[in-house]
Amino acid sequence: MPNLLVATHNAHKTGEFRAMLSDFFDDVADLTTLLDMEEPEENGSTFAENSAIKALAASNALPDAFVIADDSGLEVDALNGAPGIYSARYSGANATDATNRDKLMEELGKPEHEGKERSARFRCVITVARGGEVLAVFDGAVEGRIADSMTGEGGFGYDPLFIPEGCEDSFGVLPEKIKNGMSHRGQALEKFRAWLSEQS
Ligand code: IMP
Repeated sequence: MPNLLVATHNAHKTGEFRAMLSDFFDDVADLTTLLDMEEPEENGSTFAENSAIKALAASNALPDAFVIADDSGLEVDALNGAPGIYSARYSGANATDATNRDKLMEELGKPEHEGKERSARFRCVITVARGGEVLAVFDGAVEGRIADSMTGEGGFGYDPLFIPEGCEDSFGVLPEKIKNGMSHRGQALEKFRAWLSEQS
């Protein structure tokens, strides 16, 4: 049994959790290696609801495990908050990070968005569960803007297109440590870390 089970098949997310929690947990596993479990249908209407759905599905399958689930996404103001909770599947059922980025560029390239503000934010909600029950919920958000073109090879998802406030480079260019220090996930995890410290 790992110290911590991350309820995801997204190896990038697990990598970020592992890097940011290495002083609390030396054995962080996810659904790709630990459980032969399909991810549940994310049919909630908020990040918080989908985060709870994922945490509880994994926790019910493995009640002894200490589980965290992350639901996250990108909100673009010019697109009225899209892709939001649909960030992972923005470009359809067989979406990949690359097709999602292309779709975002395509949408923002439409004449009605030309010359308009490209403000955006990443949001993240983390749910902690054990024994099929939610123990705690933490959130985080990072403000920024959508770049005119993709830069960098780092991170995942929309990182090459997202320039956090106060920076000139995208999350695709910024080193992982810098991203984690300011990101939506990093902020939610700071709250999780404070909560963990209070538990012991
Ligand atoms: P989820 O796995 O259902 O929470 O979907 C999250 C989706 O939001 C990912 O597939 C990415 O498209 C996007 N996303 C969330 N966090 C990040 C991030 O840190 N960088 C880039 N994209 C992200």
